[in-house]
Amino acid sequence: MSSAFLTGARPRPIEAGGDAFGTHRAVAPARSLPQPAQRLDNDFSRLFAGELLLAVETLNIDAASFRQMEEGGGETDEQVIVGRVLATIQARGKQHNPVTGSGGMLLGRVEQIEPTHPDASTLRPGDRVASLVSLSLTPLRVDSVTAVRRASAQLDVTGEAVLFASGAYARMPADIPERLALAVLDVAGAAPQVARLVKPKDAVLVLGGGGKSGVLCVAEARRRGGPEATILAVESHEPYAEDLRALGICDAVISADARDPVAVRRAVLDATKGREVDVSFSCVNVPDAELAAILPVRDRGVAYFFAMSTSFTKAALGAEGVGKDVDLFVGNGYARGHADFSLAMMREMPKIRALFEKRYG
Ligand code: NAP
Repeated sequence: MSSAFLTGARPRPIEAGGDAFGTHRAVAPARSLPQPAQRLDNDFSRLFAGELLLAVETLNIDAASFRQMEEGGGETDEQVIVGRVLATIQARGKQHNPVTGSGGMLLGRVEQIEPTHPDASTLRPGDRVASLVSLSLTPLRVDSVTAVRRASAQLDVTGEAVLFASGAYARMPADIPERLALAVLDVAGAAPQVARLVKPKDAVLVLGGGGKSGVLCVAEARRRGGPEATILAVESHEPYAEDLRALGICDAVISADARDPVAVRRAVLDATKGREVDVSFSCVNVPDAELAAILPVRDRGVAYFFAMSTSFTKAALGAEGVGKDVDLFVGNGYARGHADFSLAMMREMPKIRALFEKRYG
């Protein structure tokens, strides 16, 4: 069997070894799973069983990671961010932010498909795909950075990456601009979880409700909760709070700092005339917002932490400390069908799409 490769590209030989989870690319610790690994092998002069080689065009950096890199040294210059991304990839063979532990995802073109890859019969060299697994586990080499788009935390690059046989990806849709689709796919896991957790007439709180995942969560909460639901958002970035108000889907958009849980609870109870919320979603990109997602929730309600800046310890011990019997959900980035679900929102919700096109398109 020979592998399919892009015309004009250099076909890579296939070496023995390779498993569906990518342990063969873990250098330190050797043979570990690639996400927790300190360092991955990003030498793509040869491939292994089940691998998909991509020519990378854009990195969509995770919001918590991008924010940390912007603020890490008090510097805001784009070159600082580029330097930090390149240094991480150089050190780790992947874009795995050592402070936040998060990655992001990428847009690329299929260069070569090893014949035992599960989609070897349907994928074609040249197909454009977005990865749906984190950059924190994706072997990556970046040769140059050609643009930085801070509003969408995206970097245009030249380079290569490998997806393993178990690595989810999405084909880019024909009817949605690529940058917009990439932005939506980055947070594709958020809205499907809202659809699972929000019931008609629920009171719902979204922290960071004016951001990318926050807007999708708010919109899905209104759709699931219906007109009699109470949908509240907390947003500290005033232009994003204004965007949300203009959409007209929230009962209240609270301009507040989600790191102040007492103030958030007070504002929520003011807005609901004393009713605690049934479910909250944390979609902020900063640490220390755990308790604002817990304190306004009713007994036996749910707090869902989509934010990668969340501390499990702070959430669990914080809930205990304030005597809140609330179910705490870790934000699994994957939900079955999440890419199609979130892209469909762009087709079904024209006002949300217009806002996203303005920001990320
Ligand atoms: P985003 O577009 O940057 O949205 C975050 C929003 O929260 C922004 O509007 C931000 O304002 C606001 N915010 C920041 N600090 C705040 C505070 N103290 N109080 C209230 N609002 C505040 O980010 P995103 O792409 O939606 O991502 C949101 C979170 O989801 C991140 O933590 C990211 O790591 C996580 N994520 C998780 C997964 C997963 O698989 N679970 C996948 C992707 C992303 P500014 O504009 O001022 O920052």
